[in-house]
Amino acid sequence: MSDNPSLVLRKIKDVAFEDRPVPVVEDPHYVKIAIKATGICGSDYDYYEHGSCGSFVVHDPMVLGHESAGIVVEVGKAVTSVKVGDRVACEPGVPSRFSHEYKTGHYNLDPEMAFAATPPIDGTLARYYMLPEDFCVKLPDNVSLEEGAVVEPLTVGVHSNRQADTRFGDRVIVMGAGPVGLLTAGVSRGFGATEVLVVDIVQKRLDFALEHGYATHAFNSKGKTTDDLIAYIKKAWDGKLPSVGIDCTGVPSCIYDAVTSLDKNGRYVQVGNGGATLDGFPIAKVSECELTVKGSFRYTVGDYQTSVDLIANGKLDVKPLITHRFAFEQAIDAYKFFGEGKAIKIMIAGPK
Ligand SMILES: [Zn+2]
Repeated sequence: MSDNPSLVLRKIKDVAFEDRPVPVVEDPHYVKIAIKATGICGSDYDYYEHGSCGSFVVHDPMVLGHESAGIVVEVGKAVTSVKVGDRVACEPGVPSRFSHEYKTGHYNLDPEMAFAATPPIDGTLARYYMLPEDFCVKLPDNVSLEEGAVVEPLTVGVHSNRQADTRFGDRVIVMGAGPVGLLTAGVSRGFGATEVLVVDIVQKRLDFALEHGYATHAFNSKGKTTDDLIAYIKKAWDGKLPSVGIDCTGVPSCIYDAVTSLDKNGRYVQVGNGGATLDGFPIAKVSECELTVKGSFRYTVGDYQTSVDLIANGKLDVKPLITHRFAFEQAIDAYKFFGEGKAIKIMIAGPK
């Protein structure tokens, strides 16, 4: 292996290892991290399979990967919060420090955001990656580097639950049991929701959610109507309806079901990115029941640390989510395997 082997998406379905220059710490606030674990995300796969994800299109070769953790190997002169040898989760999106969004605590909305493996920014599937020190979150001894890599999708769940203001006593419905849906449900429980229902059409994902305590209830919506879902909820929850709904699918029928099933004064949060517009949204329910409807995009200040704290404090066990592991040298096979849809979370080790 070369000095800085990197997994590069050259064009659609064409990934290859390239030797990229070893990054040099020049900015005094930056640190160099040796990447040790990287999860594959649906967005990485979209770039691989279609060359685009949402409105982002790959035009030039780009290093893949954004769900990573590693070990600090070099620090800039002004760095005080981390030191060489620290194990860190890598927050992959660095905003402009001058944007209005940054200054108001919403840096996830900064249009200047440089986000790993979102074109044209290179990702983390390399030997080394550079970040400002305040985008490295230290991992306590009881949190592994693989768990540190899962912090990225977990933090999507932290942010959506923050948007929903989930707290003790809430009853939450989460649409979708992919990695983000499962982690969102797990965060709802970690934040104190007393009932958490996950809805999907893949039974083994629902079984997984119950088995590992990510949800208290699961509903297989295959061939079922909205009335069936509401009847199930009322039976399971003693006549009560969800106080919080979070959609992690972007699928119109799921959005309809989540909003329609909410209790009066319920809070609804949209995470899933489906079509740009939606016919058939139950807007009368929003006004008649005084619902709050919010969006959730990636994550912002404090969310990454909260994810690490949830894992470190045993509020959520993310290890079972890692169903498959590949060596860095097998990363191309890992992407191909992802496409078969058999894994929940695939983890790629750092280069030897
Ligand atoms: Zn991701």
